[in-house]
Amino acid sequence: MNFTSKFLFFSFGSLFLFACNSNKNESFVDPLLTNRDTTVSPTSNFFYHANGSWFKKNPIAASDQSNGIFNTIGDTINSQIRQICEKSAALTDAKQGSNEQKIGDFYASGMDTIAIEKAGLTPLKSELAKIASVKDVVTLMKEIAHLHTIGSSPAFSFYIGQDDKMSLKYALFFMQGGLGLGDRDYYFNTDERTTEIRSEYKKHLQAMQLLMGESKEIANKNASIIYKLESDLAKVSRKLEEQRDPVKNYNKMSLSKFNELTSNISWENVLVELGVKKADSVIVRQPEFFQALNGMVKTVSIEDWKVYLKWNLIDSYSNYLTSKIRKQNFKFYATIMNGVKEQKPRWENIVNQTNGSLGELIGQIYVKEYLPAGSKEKLLEIGNSIRDVYAQHIKKLDWMSEPTKKKALHKLSKIVMKVGYPDKWKDMSKLKITRESYCQNVMNSNTWDYNFMASKYGKKVDKSEWAMYPQTYNAYYDPSNNEIVVPACNIIVPGFEGRMPDDAILYGIIGGSTFGHEITHGFDDQGSQYDENGNLNNWWTPEDLAKFQVKTKLIVEQFNNFKVLGNKHVNGEATQGENIADLGGVVMGLEAFKRTPQYKNNVKISGFSPIQRYFLAYGYAWMVNINDEALGNQIMTDVHAPAQFRINGPLSNIQEFYTAFKVKKGDKMYLAPEKRVLIW
Ligand SMILES: [Zn+2]
Repeated sequence: MNFTSKFLFFSFGSLFLFACNSNKNESFVDPLLTNRDTTVSPTSNFFYHANGSWFKKNPIAASDQSNGIFNTIGDTINSQIRQICEKSAALTDAKQGSNEQKIGDFYASGMDTIAIEKAGLTPLKSELAKIASVKDVVTLMKEIAHLHTIGSSPAFSFYIGQDDKMSLKYALFFMQGGLGLGDRDYYFNTDERTTEIRSEYKKHLQAMQLLMGESKEIANKNASIIYKLESDLAKVSRKLEEQRDPVKNYNKMSLSKFNELTSNISWENVLVELGVKKADSVIVRQPEFFQALNGMVKTVSIEDWKVYLKWNLIDSYSNYLTSKIRKQNFKFYATIMNGVKEQKPRWENIVNQTNGSLGELIGQIYVKEYLPAGSKEKLLEIGNSIRDVYAQHIKKLDWMSEPTKKKALHKLSKIVMKVGYPDKWKDMSKLKITRESYCQNVMNSNTWDYNFMASKYGKKVDKSEWAMYPQTYNAYYDPSNNEIVVPACNIIVPGFEGRMPDDAILYGIIGGSTFGHEITHGFDDQGSQYDENGNLNNWWTPEDLAKFQVKTKLIVEQFNNFKVLGNKHVNGEATQGENIADLGGVVMGLEAFKRTPQYKNNVKISGFSPIQRYFLAYGYAWMVNINDEALGNQIMTDVHAPAQFRINGPLSNIQEFYTAFKVKKGDKMYLAPEKRVLIW
């Protein structure tokens, strides 16, 4: 996927605004008032000023890596999905093949821990046998390809998506991948924390080998084989920031050229296994990675490759196997990597997985049963208002010439806004789900997802498709379609149950951090390289492009200066797209807010001026408290900066913020005028 979303970690939503429940109105407590920590000045750390009291009252649970607005919203949506799952599971007469039958049986199979324990590794038996039968490079590559079709992705990453330069056509993308740790830097950085994670990872590999039935001696040997193979792949992997340049990561070549580049591999055979017929070209994101892989299929023994493939299979399915395997997987990936101490209750894990596998089916019930009337319309109204002020802003930009402005306005006018839920749902009638095996259900669902993707190749691009569910509290911009997608549950604002939030809230959260942010992705360091039709095609004059790059460089510098966990700093280069989007979002949300009666009439609420309230609402949009382990992981693997900088970073550039909170020279939130930057 090459689209850019609002945030990485999916969480789910909370309390519906237009929902009934009006008896709560009398006891309304304004979260913007009570979330604040007034012992922290807004001029020194606005993020903690806006949210600090809430953090103190709501410590991070042992079963979570963070707490904040996303968890609150997530709890509500999860309890709604739980009801859908449990009601479906309780039906005794659900029609075979119906959505309720699939949801109910999937959920029930996940809750049936007795059957899961009894099955042990049996659900993977035939897959393990396939790996065992690999005997040479040809069968190795075929098996690697096969594993890609069932939800595992050893050795590299593969997907089918729109060609960056011909958005009306699907293309085959080959990318670096195959690592058990989240990023190549985990294999090489020498700081204490990364060194510790490496050593824990090796222990994890050993423990998983033991759980797969290997002797202690073989387990140790296999762990070394896997680690060595992965670090060889990591060595030739590009850094997070090097993956941002869409031109450098677009290397289209004929299939014969790809074969020539990697002469030990027959990609025709691989593609047959991947279910792709008649391909003449591929897009290789990182050619040097595949050249190295080409060497490795010969230099690494077939037996060692088999050890690595088995590990990939078990790793991909460990959450659906016995409690011992789940526990070991949790210990490394949740506890050690992200500081989560306890597993969530079983129902919550299974709700999450049912939604992950069958979200398209759950969404159909969700919009009927839980979406308040008028949600879609309200979201659209806010979105249109943001697009409107965006156009006014572009016209007034003092650094951009008329020809580029004309192109930018044209692109903006062509942005498609998909809001709420899709007009048509994916046909999942061929997906088979039973109560017998949870692991098999997940595999069937992974296979269905893969086949859905593979079946697109050679067909006309379906522009109506959604890559998120209505119950997904997130949003995205897709440069290939020049579209933003805002799922229905983005209407949720915790604390405003049964009442319409005031405009400062609507425009700070939904207008700024959602619509404004996503639209700006169309004009960030990456999105700005795509034209109005979604093609990688420069529409800038050289002078304007140079001025734009001076501005984005300032953003990179600002974020490089932010430090966490002692001396670790944010990766300004890798996070620049998100930071540009945040800055654009907060500016546009504010401009749209200025058109509302609340602003024009200077209506004070809870003692705050409209502008103060707008910034506090923006702070509420990123009310996220995260533990140290997860924060350390985030800055290495995520293109989103930590939440506190997503607030303090953009606001330090905005004059209205200085005025509203009387920020002056010497304050921590103060940035010298020559260091401030506004782009859009
Ligand atoms: Zn984003």
